[in-house]
Amino acid sequence: MTASKADIERMVAAGEWRREDLVRVLGTQDADAIETLRAAAEATLLARVGAGVSLRGLIEFSNVCISDCLYCGIRMHNRKVERYTLTDDEIVASARWCAEMGYGSVVLQSGERRDARFIGRLVDNVRAIKEATRSERQPDGVGITLCVGEQSREDYQRLFDAGAHRYLLRLETSSPELFALIHPARQRFETRLQCLKTLREVGFQVGTGVMIGIPGQTLEQLADDLMLFRTLDIDMIGMGPYIPHAAAAMPADWPVAPVETRMDLAFKMIGLARLSLGDVNIAATTALQALDPVGRERGLRFGANVIMPQVTPLSVRKQYTLYDGKPCLEDSAGQCATCLEGRIASVGRFIRYHSWGDSAHFARRNDLPVELPQAPAVPRLPNVRADKIIQLHLKQD
Ligand code: SAM
Repeated sequence: MTASKADIERMVAAGEWRREDLVRVLGTQDADAIETLRAAAEATLLARVGAGVSLRGLIEFSNVCISDCLYCGIRMHNRKVERYTLTDDEIVASARWCAEMGYGSVVLQSGERRDARFIGRLVDNVRAIKEATRSERQPDGVGITLCVGEQSREDYQRLFDAGAHRYLLRLETSSPELFALIHPARQRFETRLQCLKTLREVGFQVGTGVMIGIPGQTLEQLADDLMLFRTLDIDMIGMGPYIPHAAAAMPADWPVAPVETRMDLAFKMIGLARLSLGDVNIAATTALQALDPVGRERGLRFGANVIMPQVTPLSVRKQYTLYDGKPCLEDSAGQCATCLEGRIASVGRFIRYHSWGDSAHFARRNDLPVELPQAPAVPRLPNVRADKIIQLHLKQD
């Protein structure tokens, strides 16, 4: 039986989020029930984290990859991709641009490599970015999140010591069986789980996430994903819809759920993550925007509080295509920046400029001060349905 509005109100009041509750909410198609979930998630966000949205400039610095994830456009055996690695100067210049724009943090993301040359350069780049982005407002430079896959404890430690302090490593799914179906045998679920534990021990703020709507995935598995995030006491969540890629290696006869179904589930997952995990950072991911022009804004309204604007140089951005329909392929980083402010204001939220935007969950767990940023004095727009926002904007303009 799926959850009604009254059921969700009861679950919110109880605040327990058992597996069967999660499955019932994920399965509901009742518009009132979904709106109740959304409103409760937004209220939790505002109470526990505040209305500020933190930005991380996304620098996709290399698409060279030794992994072969079946779903991914840059997997090693996709011979159609032109491989690139940005120069050190390009990486540092992209980060400096972010600092000048007040983004506060960057994400360095790439395909997976574990060789000494790759790690050595990354360590140097982290150090150089820290040096190059120090300012009066950010004396310790921009915050650096890494997303470079499974590495050894020693290498995680070196990257942490160099100055990176957050790390994203998606589990992709909490089901070892489903994981095995979408990865080659040498890539193991247990390794990824162990890496998340190691990252925590090293001292990183640790993020993980899953793809939503993987062929064959069940509502029970998505509920288990949320339960596992809690068991791992994760600090940050980045999850979005699975999107097929023409040159990926997923078997052609695996059915992909319609876009509306994957988006509906993605928003419910964000809302449920906010309600069940409270004060973690949750990203409104690019994949949401790939399937819906206002997908990220809708994600914010379901309780997300982080956006990762594209700053990868335009010359290589097309080569970092994980799935078909990646947005902002033609927009310069400057254009992305201009478009962001209005988009975020349109859902009554504001950008936390010049801030690392760390996870409040990590701060509370470590008895560090938690900042609940106050909104700058801008008028709030009326509460409109997220899918009407762009039209509203155009009319106002
Ligand atoms: N190599 C690093 C790693 O594995 O963590 C970072 C890069 S990896 C390409 C970043 C994320 O892209 C993956 O964790 C996966 O969730 C996502 N991704 C890849 N292919 C995708 C697809 N077809 N649809 C949706 N997300 C996808």
